[in-house]
Amino acid sequence: MLFHASAAAFATFQPCRSSGWKIASLLFCSVFSSGFLLRDSVADQRPPNVIVILADDLGWGDVSCYGAKAIETPHIDALAANGLRFTDGYCSASTCTPTRYSLLTGTYAFRVKGTGIAPPNSPALIQPGTPTLASIFQDAGYRTAVIGKWHLGLGTKETGPDWNGLLKPGPREIGFDHCFLLPTTNDRVPQVFVENHRVRNLDPDDPLWVGNKKPSDDHPTGITHRDSLKMNWSHGHNATIHNGISRIGFYTGGHAARYRDEDLADTWVEQSLQWIDQNREQPFFLFFSSHDIHVPRVPHERFQGVTPLGPRGDCIVELDWCVGELVAYLKRHNLNEQTLIVFCSDNGPVLDDGYADDAIEKLGDHRPGGPFRGGKYNVFEAGTRTPLITSWPGKISPGVSNQIVCTIDFSASFARLIGENLPQDAFLDSIDVLDAMIGTQGGKGRRDLIVQDNGQSGNLGFRQGKWKLVRHKNKRATNVNLRLAPQPFPEHQLFDLEADPGERHDLSAQHPEVMSAMIAGLDAQIEAGRTR
Ligand code: CA
Repeated sequence: MLFHASAAAFATFQPCRSSGWKIASLLFCSVFSSGFLLRDSVADQRPPNVIVILADDLGWGDVSCYGAKAIETPHIDALAANGLRFTDGYCSASTCTPTRYSLLTGTYAFRVKGTGIAPPNSPALIQPGTPTLASIFQDAGYRTAVIGKWHLGLGTKETGPDWNGLLKPGPREIGFDHCFLLPTTNDRVPQVFVENHRVRNLDPDDPLWVGNKKPSDDHPTGITHRDSLKMNWSHGHNATIHNGISRIGFYTGGHAARYRDEDLADTWVEQSLQWIDQNREQPFFLFFSSHDIHVPRVPHERFQGVTPLGPRGDCIVELDWCVGELVAYLKRHNLNEQTLIVFCSDNGPVLDDGYADDAIEKLGDHRPGGPFRGGKYNVFEAGTRTPLITSWPGKISPGVSNQIVCTIDFSASFARLIGENLPQDAFLDSIDVLDAMIGTQGGKGRRDLIVQDNGQSGNLGFRQGKWKLVRHKNKRATNVNLRLAPQPFPEHQLFDLEADPGERHDLSAQHPEVMSAMIAGLDAQIEAGRTR
């Protein structure tokens, strides 16, 4: 018979930190076997593998299990059908870098300067030795890897990334045993893979140079060679050309190391399965960091044109294929009941994000943000309300949850799952919502949550129960998106998300006492420097 995780079982699961997963697994087994009949005792003799699948720029309404009709995402839907689908799941920010920073460090990125969208030559934003989600797993004896988009910088503060030498510090210095990366983000240079500390396939006779300024007068760019592009740019994204697509930033050299955009998803899957193959004798933590569906949206040829939504929709289907490949592998190797999968996105949707790829023209009735307002770059709900699904066959009862959980909570929650204690001086805003994430009866999510847009703009969203305070400190940062016309915002707005999920009716005048209490509550959480 199947058994389900119980709060009592997890509460009493306290493996010895220093003795690794084997002792932990014995305790794990004994805790469960004392109260439940195990279906497969072999499968439960160790703590679970954990895979976090982070999509990029995927909206709440972009997958069919969240209501999309124009496309089908059967593999993501299957995760949801067999697991928990959260209606109120969040990422920390409406842009890539701060959500990734918070996901790994468990600390709100707005507290830390320099955590806005990272430029191509950004140094490592998380300093060596910083406790992270990955290091929690590593301390517990897990094998750990990040495969896919990084966008959290590489190299020292003094030098930034040494593209032709050792690229460190980076993931390896903060808890990952292995990394295979798209080092920045694919609309920025350079288009090379980083495997552990080096650019893969780099020919020393063709060194890689990356910079902010045009390296020579005759360097082809999206401006000078616009007619040659296979995907035209719409704004920005008009510097160095690679694979017929111009990017943000300039680079030269490293030609043998350059990848084809069309092969990114296949590469993430291939590298992930290879790494799991080599490490599955131990418990493992894999951070599968997809580049889909960030711009430039260039899916593999076999996915091109498969949806009516153009490249944006085609990339969603490619992402769904990746999920299917990972799950199929786990099933093939009888690992699926030993593996907790979390699927989520790093920020909300955007249509035209710098390339003319028909995202607007072919949108039709599709609503990337579902019923929510806004999207990428802003602090309305669609910016950070993300598809969030947890799946652990045999442990998580299938269902739908309206508990508030956030990517920033993975650290505290998974720490308890594997019996690790969080250091007092780290993971300052990560809340243990494990019971909500695995659907323990009565398991509660967060009471409140702060979300941000990018960097230290001061624009924040503050959710508390049904209430949402929207704060625009930088009123010019209106972050036009999804056909919203530019408009100045008042410093504070108040919305009732139950009655008005689309954040259309500012209730600050009707509920001044709620408004002032929420402003005070938000200010207090900022001032305190931590919420855990
Ligand atoms: Ca993103």
